[in-house]
Amino acid sequence: MSLSEIKSRIAAAEAAAGRPSGSVELIAVSKVQPNDRVAAVLEKGHRVFGENRVQEAAAKWPDFRARFEGVQLHLIGPLQTNKARQAMELVDAIHSVDRPKLAQTIARLAQELGHCPRLFIQVNTGAEEQKAGILPGEADAFVAECRGLDLPIEGLMCIPPVEEEASLHFALLAKIAERNGLAGLSMGMSGDFEKAIAFGATHLRVGSAIFGERSPSA
Ligand SMILES: *Cc1c(COP(=O)(O)O)cnc(C)c1O
Repeated sequence: MSLSEIKSRIAAAEAAAGRPSGSVELIAVSKVQPNDRVAAVLEKGHRVFGENRVQEAAAKWPDFRARFEGVQLHLIGPLQTNKARQAMELVDAIHSVDRPKLAQTIARLAQELGHCPRLFIQVNTGAEEQKAGILPGEADAFVAECRGLDLPIEGLMCIPPVEEEASLHFALLAKIAERNGLAGLSMGMSGDFEKAIAFGATHLRVGSAIFGERSPSA
């Protein structure tokens, strides 16, 4: 699928859901993609990208930022506390705030650095053991804790279990966000972004549909 095809599918899904055109932000997930593919998408004018590892983002994006104006980088993968400072110096948004210790570390660093990226709390909607994220039953308390730390929480993020109907997870995430007064919903990937828009997604994280399959070795 080309970038323009995906953009027109997003526009169609926005219209079908009765949502204003342009209300959904497309984050192009460039993890483990060759630089020439990323550069091609930048050359088409796209500026919002996602990476899931701090180290890879640090290796790749300073150069692209020097070459292309207005890049916005989102960290969408798990964040270790010892990488939090580097992440906060590098990215514009973090989608994986998922535990009190990380929230506390980000709050302390925000004081020190004088700025804080936009933040999303990752919710483990499927309560999967191998997956990061706060459990749905603990989400309200965690949102309150983050607010108590003065963190700029913009919304919630989820990655539905692969073998389950994604809609159920999108609906659950939307419900938790709504009762907590959070406007942002980071949900929807290559296989289900139209469905996510129907359930209120504000940020889509789309990788392989834009860039092609990632190489299996990575
Ligand atoms: C890789 C990744 C995506 C993109 O997945 P695709 O299926 O390639 O669109 C989205 N979100 C997260 C957290 C990811 O790690």
